[in-house]
Amino acid sequence: MDLTSQMVKNAAKELGADLCGVASMDRFEGAPKQQDPRYIFPDAEACIVLGFRLPRGLFRGIEEGTYFAAYASMGYGGLNLIYMPIVLRGLVCCIEDHEWEAVPIPNNYPGATISFATQRHHPERSRPVREGLPRPDVMMDYRIAAFCAGLGEFGYSKVFLNPEFGPCVRYVAILTDAPLEPDPLFEGKLCDRCMQCARECSGQAISETETESITVAGRRIEWGKLDTQKCSVAYRGGTPEYNPFMRKSADPAAYEDLYCGGGELQKVCGYSTVHHHNPALEGARGCVRACMDHLHKRKALSRSFVNPFRKRPPWKLAPPALDPDWDDQPGPGIPVNDA
Ligand code: SF4
Repeated sequence: MDLTSQMVKNAAKELGADLCGVASMDRFEGAPKQQDPRYIFPDAEACIVLGFRLPRGLFRGIEEGTYFAAYASMGYGGLNLIYMPIVLRGLVCCIEDHEWEAVPIPNNYPGATISFATQRHHPERSRPVREGLPRPDVMMDYRIAAFCAGLGEFGYSKVFLNPEFGPCVRYVAILTDAPLEPDPLFEGKLCDRCMQCARECSGQAISETETESITVAGRRIEWGKLDTQKCSVAYRGGTPEYNPFMRKSADPAAYEDLYCGGGELQKVCGYSTVHHHNPALEGARGCVRACMDHLHKRKALSRSFVNPFRKRPPWKLAPPALDPDWDDQPGPGIPVNDA
């Protein structure tokens, strides 16, 4: 049955996606085997990428230092595990109602053979089912898919920047054998290398001097070298000066080499997991908050706000162990919520 890109985009918006772009599969030529979506659905003709905005208000409480739950729940796990899969399922069913197969690629990775911690392939996790195939699960890169679907560009931070919502978007994808018309690649320029993402990252995870690059769809993409280990620890509140829940007993040396700080950080970070995700207590201080504020002040985005995001200088605490007024409860264990 006839199905056009415009019909898919209309349905995506009605179902609740904020952005929808379409990539042709040839744009993934050259992708590493373990990340090449063409192995997931060899007959796919198109990759549909859906973007879901992070409302600016999710970050307000963290910016003020008074309320951390909104971003940790609705901006992370809730979006990944609840809202986006509902919309994804709706669009998949809509496409299949038109007699085309649609493979959802949700934003979770229970079987990925690419390790978050090392960013490398871990062949010991699974075996290929046929000679020549990658090992399951192939782990598609959503930012590359979003780039191929014309939804924006990579920022220096390696966070994907959309011309309407900047860095405040999370993405999922659908592979389909419907022959959809692809969108053109994004031709604009959003990132001006201001380096605020690198300077304001509480984990100092983004190099200001070293870069990495790849070529996708014939375009060279470059970003600041990202230390994923430092990023993972900072993301969940491992930097004591930026985590007001951190226990006095915290010793960063105990968890700095563990991905996301492991159980050692969980003992002292002072916040429970949210929707099966580590609590995103850092609130993407540099790569999202500082970048968003910068892009809005530059009027680089098509969407604007009446008031600027950042109205006060960013806060920073004394280390908890040196704060005489911080009277936390001694001993191990995380104070989970009272529910
Ligand atoms: S903060 Fe500046 S350098 Fe970093 S991604 Fe945003 S615009 Fe680019």
